[in-house]
Order: sequence, then C-alpha cells, then structure tokens
Amino acid sequence: MVPLARREEPPPVVIQRVRITIRGAVQGVGFRPFVYRLASEMSLKGWVSNSAGGVFIEAESEKPQLEEFVLRLAGEKPPRAVIQSLEFSYLDPAGFAAFEIRPSDPTGDRVALILPDIATCGDCLREIFDPRDRRYRYPFTNCTNCGPRYSIIESLPYDRDNTSMRLFRMCADCEREYEDPRDRRFHAQPNACPVCGPQVELWDCAGRKTAAGHDAICEAAQRILVGGIVAVKGLGGFHILADARSEEAVLQLRRRKRRGKKPFAVMYPSMDAVRHDCEVGRLEHRLLLSPESPIVLLRRATATTGLVSEEVAPGNPYLGVMLPYSPLHHLLMREIAFPVVATSGNLSEEPICTDEQEALHRLRDIADVFLIHNRPIVRHVDDSIARVLLARELVLRRARGYAPLPVAVREPVPNILAVGGHLKNTVALSVGRNIFISQHIGDLENDESLEAFHRVIKSLCRLYQSEPVQLASDLHPDYLSTRYACAQHHPVAAIQHHYAHVCACMAENEIEGRVLGVAWDGTGFGTDGTVWGGEFLLTDDTGYRRAASFRAFALPGGEQAVREPRRAALGVIHAMLGDDLFEGHDFPFMRSFKETELTVLRQMLRRRINSPMTTSAGRLFDAVAAITGLRQIVDFEGQAAMELEFAAADAVDDAYPLGLPAMDARDSSNAMLIFDWGPAVSAVIQDLRDGLPEELISARFHNTLVEAIVEIAQRLGESRVVLTGGCFQNRYLTERAVRRLSETGFRPYWHQRVPPNDGGISLGQVIAAARASTPQAGAHGPGA
Ligand SMILES: [Zn+2]
Ligand SMILES: [Zn+2]
Ligand SMILES: [Zn+2]
Repeated sequence: MVPLARREEPPPVVIQRVRITIRGAVQGVGFRPFVYRLASEMSLKGWVSNSAGGVFIEAESEKPQLEEFVLRLAGEKPPRAVIQSLEFSYLDPAGFAAFEIRPSDPTGDRVALILPDIATCGDCLREIFDPRDRRYRYPFTNCTNCGPRYSIIESLPYDRDNTSMRLFRMCADCEREYEDPRDRRFHAQPNACPVCGPQVELWDCAGRKTAAGHDAICEAAQRILVGGIVAVKGLGGFHILADARSEEAVLQLRRRKRRGKKPFAVMYPSMDAVRHDCEVGRLEHRLLLSPESPIVLLRRATATTGLVSEEVAPGNPYLGVMLPYSPLHHLLMREIAFPVVATSGNLSEEPICTDEQEALHRLRDIADVFLIHNRPIVRHVDDSIARVLLARELVLRRARGYAPLPVAVREPVPNILAVGGHLKNTVALSVGRNIFISQHIGDLENDESLEAFHRVIKSLCRLYQSEPVQLASDLHPDYLSTRYACAQHHPVAAIQHHYAHVCACMAENEIEGRVLGVAWDGTGFGTDGTVWGGEFLLTDDTGYRRAASFRAFALPGGEQAVREPRRAALGVIHAMLGDDLFEGHDFPFMRSFKETELTVLRQMLRRRINSPMTTSAGRLFDAVAAITGLRQIVDFEGQAAMELEFAAADAVDDAYPLGLPAMDARDSSNAMLIFDWGPAVSAVIQDLRDGLPEELISARFHNTLVEAIVEIAQRLGESRVVLTGGCFQNRYLTERAVRRLSETGFRPYWHQRVPPNDGGISLGQVIAAARASTPQAGAHGPGA
C-alpha cells in the first residue's frame, strides 16, 4: 500500500466567487437595495445589477458565507419580490474591493428569454386549499409568478395566443385579473379558473370518462391506495404513480414498465415525510422547495425505518425525492398523503408521453387508469435531477425548471446548433452570448426518441428565430445525431466526445486558457477510431492534446460488455495475463459464465473478434465491480460502477500502487502517458484472496484512481484540472479528487448547472466548434 501524506495544518482561507442569476418579479420591488444590505451585513464583496434578463449578483467571500448568502437571498427577499428561477455557480475570485450596486444594463440580454415551468407559488397554493376562494381545488391555478411556461409555448412573443392556452377563452373574472396591473394575474398568460380553464378527468383504459373534477383526483388517489397504477398528465408529460410503500405495487410497476432494478423517484406529500426517510441538508431543502423543484438525490436516513419499500431503489443508499410542484400534484398528494413512486410515463428509455390519446396507446399495458386534462402539452419536459456535492448543487438531468435557460459566454459566438451525443441526448443552440441547452431528450435508440430529437431541434430554432450557420456533432460517424447533422446543408464540426465534455465544464466555470481536462466516462469515439473513456486532455483555446490515457483493454462482445461487467473483467484480466487467464485460473466472477460461453469468449479475445479496444474508465469500474463479486450483469448503464461506489468505506485513506512509468523514463517528446491499472487490479485480486472486505477494496481502488489524477497532473504541470464525464457523477470519486487536488496545490473544477454526463455534451460541442471557427495562430483544432 502507498500511504498518502495528509496535511496537518488547517487549510488556508479560500475566497470564492458566486455568480447568481435571479429571474422573476424582482424588478421595482426593492430587490437591489435588499441584496446590497444583506451583502454588506455579511461583509461580502461584489456587486448587484439589473437587466432585462433578471437580477445579476456576484459576491466574494469564504464558501460558508456564500452558501449562507444564497439561502438568505431566497429566504429573506422583499415581500413583493417573487423568484421564478435562481441559478448560481461558483467561479474563481475576481478580487472585488467592496460591494456595490451597479447601474442597470439596458443593453443586456436582448434575446427574448423563455422561462422554464415554475413550481406553484405560495399564494396560489393558499388559494387552492381555501374553500372560500374561487379557485378552491382548481388544479390549473397559476399566476405571473408560477405555472407552466416552456411546456406550453408554441412561439414568441409569449402571449396567450402563442401558447396552448389559446384554446381556453378567459371568463369575465379571469379577464379582469388579467387586465388589472395591480393584480397578481396581470398578463399571466396561462390564467384560468374552474369556469373557463382546463379540466381534469379520470379515464379507464379504453379512454372512457369515469369521473371529472375533484372526484377524478380523489378516485385516482383511491386507486393508488388499493395498489393500482395511475398515469397522470402533469406539466411536461405523463407520470406513472404507484404506492411507494407497497412492495407489491412497486414490483408490479417494474414488471409492467419492463424496468429491472433501476431506482424510481418518489414524490413525498410533505417535507416532514421526506425528513422521516432521508437526510436533508440546507441546500437540499432549498432545492426541494425551489421554483425548479427537481428530483433531489438524498441519502437515506439509517436510523429510521423508511416509509417506502426497499424495491423502490434496491440496495441504493440514496433516494430520488421530489415534492409536489403543480396544483394538480398538490391536490392529488393531499388526498394520497403517503409517498408514491413518480416515474416518467414511458417504457424504459423512450421519451415521456405528453398526449392523452397517445398515452392510452403507449401506456395501456402499464397504467390501470388515466388522470388526464385538456390543456395540451406543447413540448415534453421531464423532471430534472439534482444532488448536492461538495456543498454545491449539481444538476444531473437538466429539464423542467432549468430548460431552456442559457449558459452565457463572454464573447458572442456564431449561430451554432449542436446535436449532442447518443445517450442522455440534449441539443444546444447559440444565439449571441447565450447558449440555450434543450431539455433532456434521452437515448437516441428508438423511433420515439429520434422523433423527439427532431421536434426539439425544430422548436428550439423556431423559438429563438435562429437559423444556424453551422452544426456541431460528435465525432462518432454512426450516432443518429451525427447522421442528422451531416444530412443538413450546413458545415458540420465533428467534435471529439471527451473534448466536448471538457469544453462544457470549462464554459460553465467560465475558464479559458490552458487546463488539464480529466474526462472519464463509459464510451466516446476517439480520433484513432478506438473507444476512449479514461482521458487526460491538455486543452487550450485552440484545441487539445491527448496527454495521458488509461491502458487499453478489450471488451469481448462490444455493446454486450456494457450490459455484462463480467465481460469487461475478462477483458481487463486478459490484458494482464493473456490466454493464461483461461488456464489454471479460477476467478470467482468467471463462475457466472457457462463453460461454453467461456470457450467462445476465449476465442473472441484470442482472435480479437468483436472485441473493441477501450480506455474506458467506466468499463474499468465495471470490471472491478465484477471481479469483487458485486455485479456480473447490469439492469441499467452504470449500475455496477454505482454499486462499487456505494460499497466504498469512508475512512480508508490508502491506495494501490500506481501503474505509471518512472519519471526518468519520460522523454521530452510529448509522448502520451499511459496509466496502467494492472498493478491496482492485481492488488484487488490479492486483497480478495486475503479475504479483505469489499468496502476496503472499493475505497482503495477509488483512491488509486484519484492518486492517478494527482500524479498525472503533477507530471503534466498544469495547475487547473477540469473533472468531467459520467464517472464524475460518482460522489466518492469527485469529492476525493477535488480534495486531493486542492491539497496538492492544484485548482480543481467540476460541474454545477450542466450535467457531467452526456447531457452536457451539446454545450461543449458549441464551445469547441466556436473555438475552431475562430482563426487563431498555430491552431490545432478538434478536426472540424
Ligand atoms: Zn402563483
Ligand atoms: Zn376564469
Ligand atoms: Zn461521455
């Protein structure tokens, strides 16, 4: 074992800068003076300013103060201010001298900003539970401060006639509110009431109405109570709900949805109920109740017996939790009063269903009844997923509440449409300084998701009235997204997958110049035609150099090895032992294969048939999970690696030997460094033979990968290290890498508002394509 040096003295004070963008009713309500007072009271440095795009704040201090500041902004805002969206990210400090109110910026963002759908506000919530109010129990109550936006807009400007609400003519009462500047519903485009607005109905599987109005909601609740499965048309698509307490109901849902062990998200009736089951920190609390109201990954409380069945998220120490965010959900959850599974209304990996007729057809084998309504959903918007990592929020799936808010860049870029990758697809469109990232579309593997992909591209270009001059795609020639891009009549920049990951992370952290990009994921097409995935890319404003990578190994069966981590394990050990692997070795994981399977796999490996070489970090995690006996075959992508992460014990600080060439063996020819995981895997096998527990082995393995990052960063001598790619959804890996890099004098960056997984690829593609199209001296671009 390699003992690691630990710093004894307390860490130095680190000043950070937080950038906050607040949208909503925040102008003309004393928001800037409030921010100024709060910042001064807390001795923060920075500024606040107004523009058409919202209130912008930058503040500098130590991390805990900034965290406190963000929470107090939302908690103590002026009474008339309403926050419809609050986004923040941590950036490098700028060295402000004081806190000031900067003059409004009239030239600001002139691009029409389309707001995401906003969770029900407190005022509307009070009305729907007030028997004297005319909107009592009305499930489509909304106002200028809350309600549907992105999911109902057909075109700009954002007027009722350009939304799916144009089908409903306002009654005299609603009209009065709409016309009255003093009313909360002044120009609230989706304004509606029980008299004039959309209505709910309960349908059976044949589409026959069995109840309407509040009765429909009560009956739906009743169905769930007796173990039924109910499809509910929500804001951005259908949910499928089932009693999360009932093992039988949850297993039934898994069978019908053809969904193995992949965790389900749960909607809780109240924060109290969430706290009963999960640990809720302050940032998590904010997220759960925020206008964005995403699904938040929470660590389950171990001290209590949870309210939900183990089958909801088998073997998972985390639970995806959300609270009701639309009036319909509030009313329904009030009747149900216990946690329900709330999963998207689709078959596995298809896009979420948005139309009731389509739902009757597509969800007929899943749901018993359908709680529907007659307000058309213009575009599908899934629930977003977020977690708190290193005391910052990290968005893992960007959809409802976030899409289509832009990521701003410093210099205007040409109009580029980026079509994203293959899995967890999103697309992005740049307009001036703004890059609009679409909502999550999904894996482009079936006709439905491909259609959704086409629809999203069309509607994004139409909404922003932007005709792209250039397209950006992945380098993989066979991705459906790449093929789409190549079929358009525009130049296409093909961007290497991991370089796109690095660019995305740089963009959201607003850094430029030289960095070491550590991009680890499951798969990405390399410039040499092999499958990359454990990459160290020295990146600057002109392009990148692949400075280091994992040692490659074969994946017998290609795609099948993604589903069977034991195949990755065979590939890894075959790289170490060659054909001897099959002679006289008896690794426990090999017993999960049939004898005939092993014979075939041996031939495949020996003759290199259908066994692509890969440097994938994700597959290496899979292999180690299989070798340690945790998981041989997965139900969903990333399951084995996740289980290896969950197995890791916290208090382990040592690592396995690093397989890196001795320093003096390095020549000056910029040859690529190879990180050989062989010594670590040998040590894993030895620890297993010695009967050491998997918690220890997993922690040591994770620690080894982190030390590899630190060591390679030291050898390459680049002070800023960007951590990106799906592997950095792994909390243990990311937190430890950030800590060790900081301890050893590096400056680490990671994702915050944009997913580290392939959902962030489209943003990176825009950045990379823009860099390539800007002529620079000595450019060695990404191969546009
Ligand atoms: Zn409201
Ligand atoms: Zn009305
Ligand atoms: Zn990726």
